[in-house]
Amino acid sequence: MSRPIINTDECSACGSCVDVCPAGVLDIVREVATVVNEESCVACGTCIEECPMGAIEDIEED
Ligand code: SF4
Ligand code: SF4
Repeated sequence: MSRPIINTDECSACGSCVDVCPAGVLDIVREVATVVNEESCVACGTCIEECPMGAIEDIEED
């Protein structure tokens, strides 16, 4: 299973990661990007590439 690791202190809640994720893993919850569908993450890294704040630090896989 994979999930993006989000530095919530850096997130501006722009929604870019929500928009680009092909698997619907992310949503904005209480004004911060949040993993809402962890089981669907395909570890593509697109959210990391598209975040303008550098707030998505890594994709954790286990
Ligand atoms: S790594 Fe890919 S599938 Fe996983 S949350 Fe980011 S954009 Fe979505
Ligand atoms: S793209 Fe980055 S700054 Fe924008 S909502 Fe996602 S984690 Fe937050």
